[in-house]
Amino acid sequence: MHTSNHTLDVPVLIVGGGGCGLTASILLSDLGVDHLLVERHSSTSVLPKAHYLNQRTMEVFRQHGLAERIYAVGTPMSMMRKVRWRTTLGGDGPFDGRTFHEIDAFGGGELVATYERDSPGPSSNYPQIRLEPLLREEAERRGPGRVRFNHELTALSQDEQGVTATVVDRTSNQPLRIRAQYVVAADGGKTIGPMLGVRMHGPTDLGRIVSSHISADLSAWWDDACLITWLINPDYEGVFGSGAMVPMGPTWGRHSEEWVVHFGFPPGQETPFDEAGVVPHLRALLKLPALEMKVHKVSNWQLDAVLADRYQIGRVLFAGDAAHRHPPTTGLGLNTAVQDAHNLAWKLALVIGGRAGPALLESYATERRPVGMRNVDWAMFTAMNHGVLDAGMGFSPLQTPELRRANFEAFFADTPMGATRRARAAEVFATQRTEFQAHDLEIGYAYDTGALVPDSSSRPPRDPLGGRYVPTARPGHRLPHAWLTVAGQRLSSLDLVGDGARFALLTGPDAEAWRAAANAAFAAAKLPLQIVTVDEAVDPDGSWRKCCGLHAAGAVLVRPDNHVAWRSAGLSADPAAELAGVLATVLGEH
Ligand SMILES: Cc1cc2nc3c(=O)[nH]c(=O)nc-3n(C[C@H](O)[C@H](O)[C@H](O)COP(=O)(O)OP(=O)(O)OC[C@H]3O[C@@H](n4cnc5c(N)ncnc54)[C@H](O)[C@@H]3O)c2cc1C
Repeated sequence: MHTSNHTLDVPVLIVGGGGCGLTASILLSDLGVDHLLVERHSSTSVLPKAHYLNQRTMEVFRQHGLAERIYAVGTPMSMMRKVRWRTTLGGDGPFDGRTFHEIDAFGGGELVATYERDSPGPSSNYPQIRLEPLLREEAERRGPGRVRFNHELTALSQDEQGVTATVVDRTSNQPLRIRAQYVVAADGGKTIGPMLGVRMHGPTDLGRIVSSHISADLSAWWDDACLITWLINPDYEGVFGSGAMVPMGPTWGRHSEEWVVHFGFPPGQETPFDEAGVVPHLRALLKLPALEMKVHKVSNWQLDAVLADRYQIGRVLFAGDAAHRHPPTTGLGLNTAVQDAHNLAWKLALVIGGRAGPALLESYATERRPVGMRNVDWAMFTAMNHGVLDAGMGFSPLQTPELRRANFEAFFADTPMGATRRARAAEVFATQRTEFQAHDLEIGYAYDTGALVPDSSSRPPRDPLGGRYVPTARPGHRLPHAWLTVAGQRLSSLDLVGDGARFALLTGPDAEAWRAAANAAFAAAKLPLQIVTVDEAVDPDGSWRKCCGLHAAGAVLVRPDNHVAWRSAGLSADPAAELAGVLATVLGEH
């Protein structure tokens, strides 16, 4: 970064200091890419917002040395292993404090073995109001002077050589002229997309949500195992009778000091709430009429399910909420934002470092937009499926108050038909594993085209309900995780690319020709490469080799973001030419 003619020159400008922008800054610093992050607010988020960090996100954080900090302060798995639907927290009526159903969630309970088998990083939970300061501190530490809050981008134009931006320092009101090679628009879709004419496709204003961030002692009514409790209050009619609440820490479980309670309205019926007005509603919804609470903040927001028509316009790359916004169900907002930044960082590093042409950056949109589309659709599906759960419990929006009340009686009745209703509900509730056990959706996404060389194999069939993950090293997929012993060290297979600055070539023992060819191709391209010969010492029972399709004379090339770039089942006639061609394709050179 340097200043000349009142212009600050920097390779990458990141606009937005939310989860996406801060992650991008950390990753770029780790990869040695100079950049500047500007955030218009003076502080990180004042709202708790997203909290669930899925396994893929924790793998990214693990790769960059952030995971241990988050595990140390995030929700322990024992306190996030269930999701529950119940009537109320308090009250002494016949239907108060009753549980409709509960399921294992987020890799806890019965899911532990599967989630542990498939990833070195357990999922975690840490709300944005706490996570963002942690990310900001790390971003500032790794990129001193590179993170500027209270700085707002107000104008942007681009030409063949770069982007010119005006950023106003909101403390001094002084404008700053910035010239960057690339801009990461991580601004939540607030500024740059509208400026450049990005269109967000999909339905908007699907519902209004009121989210209240409170401090209260709920220890008498909470169960430590539960992360989210959904409420279906017998005294309320309509959607007001439904809500969801989540502990927000900093202590977890029943002793959480802070909570968020969400409830919704259909469009057109909204009543904006403020901090004082929400208290009676929360007390009634929880059925705790004397509950002492401090309301920190109430946010009234709307549900959208939209995807940007473009992820790249010239030298501007859109990531996170700037590219996709959708309901919070399945917790895909922040997670997809972190994973966008991860896909982008190594590509920016190679292009800025002159190791790859700008075409490599085009693969960002090719790879990430289909994932964004799938996640927008998925979040909509799992949000709408809550209506299916209501029906499974016997509720309908058309019910009169009398019929609604009769339904509570019928559901909890100690009769054969009560048991039948509860059994039906259990079967219907199982469909909500699409939200809380979306293991394959979370770690099994793959790129069909992009910075990779597809092979002739077909994609393993995906579980349409997003749960069952099939590990494969087919190009485009995330390298399957296994614990390996490499040079006497126990490593996850995902560790072989280090902190994202190098590729890895995995070969069978009889693949010397691939190793030599890769050494030559990577040396010529001046790219770091880790070569691992996978034999009995590395993978004693051979199950990981089998799962990857790694044969004795075969090879698998892994990208810095742990997605497979190319693989070969055996030797080819001219390994040197083949690998040079593979590298040129991956780097976008032809
Ligand atoms: C009330 C609320 C509750 C939510 N709850 C959940 C949830 O429970 N689960 C979930 O998965 N997701 C939730 N989300 C969504 C989730 O918070 C987002 O997906 C996530 O924050 C996206 O991160 P981001 O960094 O892309 O965008 P953001 O967090 O929106 O960050 C963008 C940043 O860019 C800054 N910015 C904008 N314009 C400029 C400019 N011109 N100059 C400088 N800076 C600028 C903004 O100030 C902002 O800080 C919620 C969102 C809201 C609003």
